[in-house]
Amino acid sequence: MGTYFKNIWEGIWTVLVGMKITWSHLFTPAVTIQYPDVKLKLPERARNRLYVNMDDCIGCDQCAMACPVDCITIETLKSTPDVDLGLTSVGTKKRLYVPRFDIDIAKCCYCGLCVPPCPTECIKMTDVYEFSEYERNNLIYRYATMTPAEIDAAKTKLAAYEKEQAEKKAAAPPKPAAPAPARVPVGAKPAGVPAAKPVSSPAPAPVDPPENPENKS
Ligand code: SF4
Ligand code: SF4
Repeated sequence: MGTYFKNIWEGIWTVLVGMKITWSHLFTPAVTIQYPDVKLKLPERARNRLYVNMDDCIGCDQCAMACPVDCITIETLKSTPDVDLGLTSVGTKKRLYVPRFDIDIAKCCYCGLCVPPCPTECIKMTDVYEFSEYERNNLIYRYATMTPAEIDAAKTKLAAYEKEQAEKKAAAPPKPAAPAPARVPVGAKPAGVPAAKPVSSPAPAPVDPPENPENKS
């Protein structure tokens, strides 16, 4: 019988202890926010979704080489000499088309290693952190701005240019072979090398005889 009442008392006591903690938090300021209506301000250097400004990308591949998880895929295409692709905003001349620039953000670990090597500062971390998707493929961001028609046109033009260059090279007369250097026997002086002059030792400088102490007055 004693154990029965003891168990009842322990149950009541446990509830009272729990309620004491609840009551103590009832009169303290709330630490939660009403997300997504209210959002916390992110630190200045927070690392979130990447962004690439393709107007400034020169296709140098530095960001892809720095990525530890290989989530950046870049394809480039040479432009022909008659095409001026312009300059980036930092004054770097663009020489390559970039028909493909994909970032698989599902693989990205937000390390930020791809940002510092970029010579034109066109890849950067943004403050966007809400980009969940139902389909994994939607997390592959395709930044390239060239259309398939533009890519095909650039490829065709480059192929024609390379063919023309190859034809010109094949039609050019062969260059005369340079004469082989004459063989010089071991120990013999090669032709055209002047004979070494004998080295004469310098004449000794005259030395004044020591003064006779008897001549001193
Ligand atoms: S943040 Fe890191 S993991 Fe993500 S793309 Fe850049 S280098 Fe790769
Ligand atoms: S490092 Fe910068 S310029 Fe080079 S490919 Fe990457 S984003 Fe483009």
